[in-house]
Amino acid sequence: MSSSKIAVIGAGLAGITAARSLTAAGYNVQVFEKSRGSGGRLASKRSDMGRVNLGAQAFSTDDAQFLQELENWQQSGWVEGLAADPTLWTGAPYMSALTRNLLGHINTHFACEIRTLSHDDNGWSLHDQHQHVHGPFKQLVVAIPAPQAETLLEPCAPELAGQAGSVVMQPIWMVALGFKQPVHLKQPIDQLHNDAIAQVTLTPLSDDHPMQTLMLRATDSWSSAHLENEREQVIADLSASLASVLSEPLPVADSVFAHRWRYGLGALTQPSTLLADAQRGLYLAGDWCGTGDVYSAWRSGQHAAQQIISQQ
Ligand SMILES: Cc1cc2nc3c(=O)[nH]c(=O)nc-3n(C[C@H](O)[C@H](O)[C@H](O)COP(=O)(O)OP(=O)(O)OC[C@H]3O[C@@H](n4cnc5c(N)ncnc54)[C@H](O)[C@@H]3O)c2cc1C
Repeated sequence: MSSSKIAVIGAGLAGITAARSLTAAGYNVQVFEKSRGSGGRLASKRSDMGRVNLGAQAFSTDDAQFLQELENWQQSGWVEGLAADPTLWTGAPYMSALTRNLLGHINTHFACEIRTLSHDDNGWSLHDQHQHVHGPFKQLVVAIPAPQAETLLEPCAPELAGQAGSVVMQPIWMVALGFKQPVHLKQPIDQLHNDAIAQVTLTPLSDDHPMQTLMLRATDSWSSAHLENEREQVIADLSASLASVLSEPLPVADSVFAHRWRYGLGALTQPSTLLADAQRGLYLAGDWCGTGDVYSAWRSGQHAAQQIISQQ
């Protein structure tokens, strides 16, 4: 057990995983998250279609330890395998329910964006958007996308900031189309892609989903080229692009929305698990420290916690 105070910035899977392991080891952990809810790129949006996953729709792994963890989460009812492919996992009943369950009662400051950091002999102090100062904390885990980590760390940890700055994170546009009546696609859904659309996923009608939802994920190149477009234009363009690969036209959608991930996917060219300045108690975690996926986010958070625990 340790009463050492630890701050974690970011309530995505990496930050939550680090916070859970540290809390389980007896540390006094506080999480800081700029959004009003948890999940980051595993967030879900409440809409008239039901809860819609905005980022990853499902994920897979062949890592035995992560699989074991997923089985534990499955027993708690927090994840499930997809009916169409049980090797693909998703949050139950949606992604942000998973991260909310994982976060449990860990002390989390939502809507709290950390804008600057300072470090002295007492540890790390975190300055938020309202100029409130949190801390000091003996250790700090920064679990946010690489470009945001670069900006935050530049004044106080320029070397780590430089490493984060080497990561190119691709933007991704997502478009959700909701239909009150079920749509019957004639083609297999995994064949519905082209230069603009990378992936289409379908959520059927259910008690939780009053509309059948088609989620269109734009390709990296299309998303980059249309990064600053208006949402209405993105919805129109990706809907037209989907229509061009369908053998039969879709009815007009009853509900639509678009979501832009400015920092969607990316990773270090030489995957690691985390970056650290252990002497000053600073750890950088996140999917981008590995291969830019859900598994890497989990593993990175685990390793950050293990390093901190092993140094006590
Ligand atoms: C469209 C899309 C599809 C994807 N598909 C897949 C897939 O099929 N399979 C797969 O394995 N992975 C997929 N991914 C990737 C997966 O979602 C991520 O790898 C994973 O969720 C990243 O977790 P993380 O904790 O590292 O970062 P994030 O989820 O980005 O969490 C970082 C958190 O930090 C917060 N934050 C940032 N700056 C600050 C600050 N200054 N102060 C406070 N809080 C801050 C953010 O709000 C966010 O909540 C996809 C991602 C996207 C966007």
